[in-house]
Amino acid sequence: MPELGAFVQDEVIAASLKKPGPKQLTLWVDLEYCVGCHACTMACKGENNTPVGVDFNRVIEVEVGAFTDSKEKPDLRVYFVPMPCMH
Ligand code: SF4
Repeated sequence: MPELGAFVQDEVIAASLKKPGPKQLTLWVDLEYCVGCHACTMACKGENNTPVGVDFNRVIEVEVGAFTDSKEKPDLRVYFVPMPCMH
């Protein structure tokens, strides 16, 4: 499992903050830590007051692997992928 911050080096962040002009914020979700709790979906729904059935943020479930032999331990892994609208 990668360490937190392994993908964005401190120098890259520092250089970005030194650039003149407006700053653009970003949201980083490390999928290794997402447990699919849907709290982000509920927070977005509460913040934007969307009606029932309308979710700007969704969390999808992706299953990787297969059952190869009924006598063996299944080689499966489930990932949760939060999909914010990025607005
Ligand atoms: S990204 Fe959303 S679904 Fe995943 S752990 Fe965080 S709040 Fe829960």
